[in-house]
Amino acid sequence: MMKVMSPFDYDHRPVPPTIGADRRADAPLGPRPGGGGSEPASAPPPVGAGRAEEVDPALHPPLDEVLLEVRSMSMWYGQKQALHDVSLRIPPKRITAFIGPSGCGKSTLLRCVNRLNDLVDGARIEGDILFEGRSIHGPDVEVNALRKRIGMVFQKSNPFPKSIYENVAYGARIQGIGKRDALDQIVERSLRRAALWDEVKDRLRESALGMSGGQQQRLCIARAIAVEPDVILLDEPCSALDPIATARIEELMIELKKRYTLVIVTHNMQQASRVSDFTAFLYLGRLIEYRETDKLFVNPIKKQTEDYITGRFG
Ligand code: ADP
Repeated sequence: MMKVMSPFDYDHRPVPPTIGADRRADAPLGPRPGGGGSEPASAPPPVGAGRAEEVDPALHPPLDEVLLEVRSMSMWYGQKQALHDVSLRIPPKRITAFIGPSGCGKSTLLRCVNRLNDLVDGARIEGDILFEGRSIHGPDVEVNALRKRIGMVFQKSNPFPKSIYENVAYGARIQGIGKRDALDQIVERSLRRAALWDEVKDRLRESALGMSGGQQQRLCIARAIAVEPDVILLDEPCSALDPIATARIEELMIELKKRYTLVIVTHNMQQASRVSDFTAFLYLGRLIEYRETDKLFVNPIKKQTEDYITGRFG
């Protein structure tokens, strides 16, 4: 049985009415078939109980504005719990980094933000994520529309086996934009914003698969930008790239935050400290510390954070 979440105890705004609205029997991430609606053996204790003691406001940065709000998010793959009661708020037009050792739940948390985990068999969540104050699991939320506003760039660049032009135009075509002038404009604007236009403007009709790895990753960013998202999620976007290509993507991310909200997963602490404004450190599926990046790296509050950033484990 699912429950309505309590508000954060450090945030006294009322709970929006959509919280928990996804907890219908037909919700895409409802109990696994055969579960009979009962909680599995690894089900957590009731969320909300004792939260005033559990949430340490010192570990959450003060924010003027909040775009995304993760509330008491727990997530299971079958019986395996990958996230434990994670709560954090993400501001607009900033870069927020999720760091932590491999397997600590960074990508899982990122994928929850645009409901990519809906596609995983046996996945189950508790808690909620609010985007502009509304549940992303609400009954009125159309997942494709959500993913248009919250785009994703993956670890391994994944251009379609089409031309550079068609890769970028793809999303716009799906939205029904067919006029050549409109598409040309979208393609040029997106490639410019992804710092790729000058490199490819004379070969837009060539296959995207002939580009370098760094160019392909910027093409994937251009493809995400082309549908005018608000948020771009980047899952280890540089892990397959050489240092020069990595530096270009990092510069690009800093440029992109003027228009977009970026959330990046990285196992590269130097990268998080170079590009991000806020950093969340996760360990074993739990949020350990979430603060302004300079504070977290210079003066961590939690011993686990200090041990991780000083290389004692990970
Ligand atoms: P990170 O991004 O920090 O490396 P992940 O979010 O990928 O961590 O994984 C967190 C945990 O969830 C790991 O133990 C991983 O093995 C598990 N996991 C991730 N994806 C799946 C999946 N599709 N099915 C089952 N377990 C998964």
